[in-house]
Amino acid sequence: MNDALSPDAQALHQSLVTLDTHIDIPWPPGPDPFADGPRKVDFPKMVRGGLGAGCFVAYIPQASRTVANEDAAYARAIAMLDHINAMGRTEAGITARVTPTVDEILAAKRDGVCAIVPCVENGFAVGADLGRIAEFRARGARYLTLTQNGHNALADSCNPRRDLGDRESEHGGLSALGRAAVAELNRVGMIVDVAHTSRDTMQQAAEVSRTPIVSTHSCVSALCDHPRNMADWQLDIVKAVRGVIQITAVSAFLRPNARPADITVADFADHVDYAVKRIGIDHVGISSDFDGGGWFSDWKDAADSANVTAELLRRGYDRGALEKLWGGNFLRVMREVEEAAA
Ligand SMILES: [Zn+2]
Repeated sequence: MNDALSPDAQALHQSLVTLDTHIDIPWPPGPDPFADGPRKVDFPKMVRGGLGAGCFVAYIPQASRTVANEDAAYARAIAMLDHINAMGRTEAGITARVTPTVDEILAAKRDGVCAIVPCVENGFAVGADLGRIAEFRARGARYLTLTQNGHNALADSCNPRRDLGDRESEHGGLSALGRAAVAELNRVGMIVDVAHTSRDTMQQAAEVSRTPIVSTHSCVSALCDHPRNMADWQLDIVKAVRGVIQITAVSAFLRPNARPADITVADFADHVDYAVKRIGIDHVGISSDFDGGGWFSDWKDAADSANVTAELLRRGYDRGALEKLWGGNFLRVMREVEEAAA
């Protein structure tokens, strides 16, 4: 599809600081990220697609909440973060750099290298030991998604795991430990990510956090009623706390029960438009959830990223707006979180 882009759209896209805020990695480690292989995001595809930066996520699957499982989840998170850090190297003529701060992300753009932001998905890996959060931060991690599918010791999820014995609500949102975890995330300079959390958890996290919260990969309920999406009143909270919702490329969040092949950048841009109209251009961003279930017909991997820019340009977003959507808003939150860290 890139062949169909106007030279102007392509040039504009290449000039932007582009950050995709949610990318999974295969685990155990899969195909080489420096080879153009089966991954939806590898460095050759990032270069071809003009995707400068990515939040690469240590994703922890939910399991039953025994201490042994929590310890195993923590060990996995540390091993994945170490692996993500080791992706920062030069190979096959491409340089990738681990960039845990805003200034480092901007420097990577100036230097023309791929930028890697480590992150952790699922507070299950914290267990009951909040000291683990500083260990994540020490490995460059910049956000923690409080839950994944299933409640954990910190908070309720929007998708209770009946198979693990979850009731609809366990904590009524954040637990006492979860509130302390938010304070610790604030202290170490990690962003509070409310993708996957219940609506109560999201609302309470927004109240408790000293810094803006984000959803790194969600869409809007008004266009597609799905537990993973945000209701209008939640969007209003995102705006009120100066946060950001990163619209994501998961087909079932974009249109009810849609398959990836049925979805296009027009569906994706509909969610961006809706959120921008509701809460303004400063509170909306872009993510893929590539290699974690996200993709659709004309954004099937990172190499297609310019198609998103082209569709948004067609809808009247100018350069300034595209800068904000493609990472400027998220980086504003990231910097605020850096500056508020103790
Ligand atoms: Zn996720």
